[in-house]
Amino acid sequence: MASLRAELVGLLAPPHCLCCRVPLVRAPAGPGLCGACRDEIERSPGSPLRADGIDGGFAPLEYAGAGRRLVAALKFSRLLVVAELGAALIADRAPPAWLDATVVPVPAAPARALRRGFDPAWELAAALAGQTGMPAVPLLRRRDRRHQRGRSRDQRLGRPPRVIAAGPAPRRVLLVDDVITTGATIDACSRALRGAGAASVRAVAIAAVKPR
Ligand SMILES: [Zn+2]
Repeated sequence: MASLRAELVGLLAPPHCLCCRVPLVRAPAGPGLCGACRDEIERSPGSPLRADGIDGGFAPLEYAGAGRRLVAALKFSRLLVVAELGAALIADRAPPAWLDATVVPVPAAPARALRRGFDPAWELAAALAGQTGMPAVPLLRRRDRRHQRGRSRDQRLGRPPRVIAAGPAPRRVLLVDDVITTGATIDACSRALRGAGAASVRAVAIAAVKPR
């Protein structure tokens, strides 16, 4: 109910920046961003993704500042316009050769998917598919009920989630997640995809934690 109320308020209230929620004097032509957030997003050089099992990874934003706020707006406020914006940033800035693949979202942990009834990685994958013409297939499943959130970096690296493919994998895969932190989940997804026949696995996200 809270989110429905938020949506109704959003329809009635003056427009806000979808990234930092500052009120906008007039509705912008493009995605509803204030000047500061727009500048920060446009100037971001992007963040390479580090994970063992992939042939390449890229996120247009670092998981800080505007990147962190945008991921929160998608994940917690369920703003689908953020999925479209994130997909546009990825389609625009990722190497063009990567966009000749099948889009596969990183699967949500079952407990989390059930609680939220909303899957940000799938929404982003669907938006990317819609904008580029690539097919999107929710091929992967999580096999555990453990959460990444609230666990230390070492714990996450030491115990990666168990991921399986629900069927044969396409030859070229573009894995999609809303945010990539340690890369442990991406690595587990990549292993499952290669085991199911994928020859090339690359990964993209709206934002990624800068490699240390
Ligand atoms: Zn803003």
